[in-house]
This record gives sequence, C-alpha cells and structure tokens, in this order.
Amino acid sequence: MNWISDWALPKISGLFKREVPENLWHKCPACEQMIFRRDLEAALHVCPHCGHHMRISAVRRLECTLDAGFSRIELPKAPADPLRFRDQRRYSDRLREAQVKSAMDDAVAVAHGTIEGERAVVAAFEFAFMGGSMGAGVGEAIVTAAKLAVLQDSPLVVFTASGGARMQEGAISLMQMPRTVIATRLVKEAGLPFIVVMCDPTTGGVTASFAMLGDIHIAEPGAMIGFAGARVIEQTVREKLPEGFQRAEYLLEHGILDMVVKRGEMRGVLARVLGLLRVPLVAPAAAVEPEPEAPPAEEPAAPAQP
Ligand SMILES: [Zn+2]
Repeated sequence: MNWISDWALPKISGLFKREVPENLWHKCPACEQMIFRRDLEAALHVCPHCGHHMRISAVRRLECTLDAGFSRIELPKAPADPLRFRDQRRYSDRLREAQVKSAMDDAVAVAHGTIEGERAVVAAFEFAFMGGSMGAGVGEAIVTAAKLAVLQDSPLVVFTASGGARMQEGAISLMQMPRTVIATRLVKEAGLPFIVVMCDPTTGGVTASFAMLGDIHIAEPGAMIGFAGARVIEQTVREKLPEGFQRAEYLLEHGILDMVVKRGEMRGVLARVLGLLRVPLVAPAAAVEPEPEAPPAEEPAAPAQP
C-alpha cells in the first residue's frame, strides 16, 4: 500500500473521529430494555423500567451506604491456596486473576463511618470475586469487621452476596462458618446491633452461618436467598416448588426476613433502624445523681478465740 492509505488517511480520520465511549448503554437482564449507563449509575444499578436490582460491586455498596468520608480498613492477609488446589487451573492463578480484576484481596470489603450520621462498621461481599465464595480471606474479613465493631462500640452491618463456601479451600472454607458465627456473637454479646442485608444471591455456607443470625434481616427486592439451589431441592424432594421460591418477597411472607427494602431507600432504613436500636432505654448512669457514699461500716471485731 502507498503512503496515503498507510499514513495519511489514519491521521486524517484520527483528527475527525469523535470519542464515543464503549458500553454507553446497558441492557436490563430482566426486562431487556436499554438503559443509558449514566442513568443506571445514578439509579444505583436499579432498572428504571422494571425495578430489577442488578448486582453492584462491594466498593460501590460501601459508597452508597456510608456517608462521605468513611474509611476502608486493611484486612489481614489469609494464607493463599493452603491446599495447593488445582482443578482445570491452579487455584492460586484463579485467585490472582480475581484480585487483579476486582482490585481487592478477597471477596469482602470492610469500612467504618456513619450512615446518615449513625456510626457503623459495614462489610460488603463482592460477588464478582469468585462468586463471593467464603474462604479463609472472607472469614478473616468478617472476624476483623466484628472485632472493629466491638472496639468502636458500633453496630455491624453486613451486605451478603455469595455462592457459598469456596471449594478450592476444602475444610478450611467450611471452618469459616463457625468462625464467622462466633465473630458475630461477639458483637451481640457486646450489646451491639448486628444487621444482615441479603443481596442477590445469598446462598450456601454464608446462608448456613452468620447471615441467618442477624438481629434484623433485610433483603433487596428479588434477591435469591437459600441454601441449596431450587433444582437440587426439586430433584431431592420430587415436588414442584412454589412460585417465587427462595426469592426475598417469598421469604418475607414466610417469616425469614424482617424487611425487603429498595436499594434507593436502604441508607435511610438502615439509619432509622440503627437509631432506634441505639437509643438507650434507661437513663445513662452518669446522668443519675450518685448516692452519697456511706462511710464504710466498722468491721465487727472477731470474737476472741478462747
Ligand atoms: Zn428492567
């Protein structure tokens, strides 16, 4: 080819080419309507046409829950690939890939700050990180969040989104179930509220451990919440499952959840619940006029030994 097509034409077309960002539109997976990406971002990834709640990242979750100026905390490093597990690929390779893609060490991000002025420690699962699966790293994150809540005398709020245990960590992954339960018990023992917000999907080992032990259970509309998948259950019990089985609205009707709250209203609801739970029912001890201390009673003299 000559210099015109090789050099001049690309230069000229480069001069006139308008920058069109890719992925300007997003198709709603529920109603298949096209949504302008900026509108979707403003609506916190809730479809303006049908109200479908799409999955959002852990970092975005922290940003839209906590007031500006919150601080994310660094989490202790868990041993990577303790079993040197390999299926089609090495677990260590999968882990590294997920870390690069999400810019997170593992599937949970923890931050502390305020929600509409109410102090809280918030942990959020990142479903894009290996399906939000719970291995040693996630266990460590929940333990750290619980300890921080106790230390700061703050309520603990956990946004769950998980496919369950991380099978590449075998029994170590299963051990995170009692670990996270004990960690969240510490929060309750300190008299602090522990609130679970179940997002789509919350399943497996996370459902079977701390996620079902909150003081208040909230879920996002349409979130899939359960232990085993509907197909597995259907095959086991050989029965047709009811409409909407394992969806947030169904669980609310059957008493597993306290509330189903839209993403746009979540902050306000959390702040109100925390405010109600944190109002002291009795006057604080310092406000009560202390009784004047009585002089110590004379110790009766011991009877003389004969
Ligand atoms: Zn939609």
